[in-house]
Amino acid sequence: MTTEKVDVLLVGGGAMSATLGTLLNRLDPSLKITLVERLDHVAHESTDGWNNAGTGHAGYCELNYTPQTADGDVEIDRALSINANFEISLQLWSYLVRQGGLPEPENFINTTPHMSFVWGEDNVAFLRRRHEKLSAHHLFKEMEYSEDPAVLNEWMPLVMEGRDPDEKVAATRISHGPDVDFGSLARNMVKSLQESDNFNLLLSHEVNDFDHAKDGSWHVRVKDRTSGKSKTIHADFVFLGAGGGALPLLQESGIDEADGYGGFPVSGMWLVCKDPAIVARHSAKVYGKAAIGAPPMSVPHLDTRIINGEPALLFGPFAGFTMKFLKSGSKLDLLKSVSVSNLMPMVDVGFNNMDLTKYLISEVRQSHKERVSTLRDYFPDCKADDWTLARAGQRVQIIKKDGSGRGKLEFGTELVAAKDGSLAALLGASPGASVAVQAMIEVLERCFPEKMAAGWDKRLKEMIPSYGESLKTDAALLERVRSDVLDTLKIGE
Ligand SMILES: Cc1cc2nc3c(=O)[nH]c(=O)nc-3n(C[C@H](O)[C@H](O)[C@H](O)COP(=O)(O)OP(=O)(O)OC[C@H]3O[C@@H](n4cnc5c(N)ncnc54)[C@H](O)[C@@H]3O)c2cc1C
Repeated sequence: MTTEKVDVLLVGGGAMSATLGTLLNRLDPSLKITLVERLDHVAHESTDGWNNAGTGHAGYCELNYTPQTADGDVEIDRALSINANFEISLQLWSYLVRQGGLPEPENFINTTPHMSFVWGEDNVAFLRRRHEKLSAHHLFKEMEYSEDPAVLNEWMPLVMEGRDPDEKVAATRISHGPDVDFGSLARNMVKSLQESDNFNLLLSHEVNDFDHAKDGSWHVRVKDRTSGKSKTIHADFVFLGAGGGALPLLQESGIDEADGYGGFPVSGMWLVCKDPAIVARHSAKVYGKAAIGAPPMSVPHLDTRIINGEPALLFGPFAGFTMKFLKSGSKLDLLKSVSVSNLMPMVDVGFNNMDLTKYLISEVRQSHKERVSTLRDYFPDCKADDWTLARAGQRVQIIKKDGSGRGKLEFGTELVAAKDGSLAALLGASPGASVAVQAMIEVLERCFPEKMAAGWDKRLKEMIPSYGESLKTDAALLERVRSDVLDTLKIGE
């Protein structure tokens, strides 16, 4: 068995590892970095264009980021944080475009106004209040609101045509929202990393075992899936950017911090339309309200997508029940992830979320006709034959022990890091790739504190001008940063 030594081992070739590799390579080009990917391409799991919705999640249109309180008010704090974090991604991508580390922006990001659309008195009252609160904050000051069908018809003709004229409707719009092809973004980041002599990409290789050495480094067993041969890579730092595959690897690492974590996999489907005449009539991401009892990740939306330069429409997601942690994973994934430390939390979540399980199973069983009937809420005049079903990526929602040892199902993203900073893993899938840059900055801060204090922080500020300051509280900073990134990335033009 051969062995090799690296400074950093990135496990998985999706948006997260591509972002962390890019940051580390630019902070210290002398670092020896290896990226191991089990498939024969990078970014072919959740990060691939059709496997996610490509929404640059900024809280502009996603109503689940602004929950309604019992007294009818609207909480906006989560939307503000997600928006500020998305601005951090935009800054890094702009920097890379300017430096030649990414191609022309239209290869991975395109203007697609972000809109929320609701119907019925109560929902309209909610959206009005949401707009009042958000638009009063500098991060959302460009948000427009209308209840006028003529205005809405101009914003989203497909959504308005064929609708009952007496129905009360309302929408908000942010013109500078983007559609992001995260697959193209990640593949271009890795392509750029491959120009460095200190970066090595191992495709069709799978990580399946670890040993934590006495000196704090990791001995990682990597199997070549083509030849069946294995080798050991010695790494000072390991990042588990394996998407749905991160949880089993984290468990395998045996670090104390992994204790009690479990995963709840959820699959997804889209309805897709590529008819140019229909696609040309919709240029927006129109998000609605999730059905009562539906989990937050199944908020319906009708989106313009531009993947590999080709425009299309997407509607969904239709969630589904699955046992796999990766789209190309195994039906044993869920079963194999059950351990002594997470058995109770997983059983708890199973019992307490029967409604969710039933909901997911009912979603899987839907016929094409039933799915198209849901689409009619957003596109009343649609024809079933214009739409086909496509499989989206897998999400693995986090199951976590609460203070009393009981299990809790989480819908966010969480970074789990060893206390010695030698290993970190990213779990969960929302808000996902949009906030990859902030998530990977957190990896740097938690796992490389000395390097950050010794100059990486200053170098990071050259790439991300708002680093170390708050876009949430500093309106003048946002003004400077946002106009610059929108200009460079050609969004909102
Ligand atoms: C239906 C759906 C809709 C979504 N919509 C959005 C959206 O609109 N906006 C947004 O920002 N985010 C969205 N997301 C989330 C987003 O896609 C993910 O957060 C993001 O792509 C995760 O990137 P990743 O690098 O962690 O994982 P992935 O892209 O899944 O990459 C992980 C990689 O690790 C590899 N791997 C796994 N195990 C191993 C192993 N043992 N050894 C080697 N390699 C391994 C896999 O093959 C894979 O290539 C969505 C996700 C889904 C499923």
